[in-house]
Amino acid sequence: MIRILTTQSDLQARFAPLQRQRKIIGLVPTMGALHDGHLTLARTALAQCDECVVSIFVNPKQFAPHEDFDRYPRPLERDIELLDSIGVQSVFTPSPEVMYPPGFQTTITVGNVSKPLEGEFRPHFFAGVATVVARLLLLTGADKAYFGEKDYQQLQVVRAMVHDLAIPTEIVGVPTIREESGLAMSSRNAYLTAEKRKEALCLSQTLFSMAAQLKAGRKISEIESQAALTLLSSGFDKIDYIAICDAATLEPPAPQTTALRILGAAWIGNVRLIDNIAV
Ligand code: AMP
Repeated sequence: MIRILTTQSDLQARFAPLQRQRKIIGLVPTMGALHDGHLTLARTALAQCDECVVSIFVNPKQFAPHEDFDRYPRPLERDIELLDSIGVQSVFTPSPEVMYPPGFQTTITVGNVSKPLEGEFRPHFFAGVATVVARLLLLTGADKAYFGEKDYQQLQVVRAMVHDLAIPTEIVGVPTIREESGLAMSSRNAYLTAEKRKEALCLSQTLFSMAAQLKAGRKISEIESQAALTLLSSGFDKIDYIAICDAATLEPPAPQTTALRILGAAWIGNVRLIDNIAV
């Protein structure tokens, strides 16, 4: 039976004895509304660790006032059943007061890698993510923590933070899980009607087509502007960015760049979708 942990002393009671026995603890931070992408992270942690703990916390610090914090889906009972069914040993479901006790006043801001792309369109976002992830890593004392490439820039920001602050947790990136159609699984897909879901496919299709054009030697700026037009003519209403970047820095590629990543964020109505692929 899965253990439900809600307080710092619950974490202590569960993990301190495991740490004394040198058991490997793997953390999977989530905001809940779990789908197969999250479950793949948990299965990877289960395969590599002695204990997998999945945290479920809709982090207010990573939402701007105009964003979807209030309507974000929170099917907590179903989430816990799903985690139990795949053998996850513990779930951490803290209240906001446990994550941010009275008097909490620290914010972690990561430098360059958090500035472009998401950082430009959601300026509050990565400080919120870095602060909550640092606290989760330190509260649980996890040996390993699992993050999806679905949120590729987030993964790079977390890697930079853990490196810079010498947090002794190994960060493991897990490839994006897609539906058969190619649509990247996301809790926010629940906001889409069946019709809009079909239109949403164009985002992953466009990324794959951009990779093919890149391999065919077409100029990056031309590929990017063509991709934006394609999305706008296929049901997307607004594009935040669709860009070919240096996979390490997320800046526009320099002549010496070897690894590239193609990343996009675009809106269908009031639903914002993001996706990315390696080249
Ligand atoms: P979220 O609940 O959206 O904050 O996501 C929690 C974790 O699951 C993050 O590390 C995400 O990158 C990861 N994740 C979300 N969707 C997917 C997916 N389709 N494939 C792989 N990982 C994912």
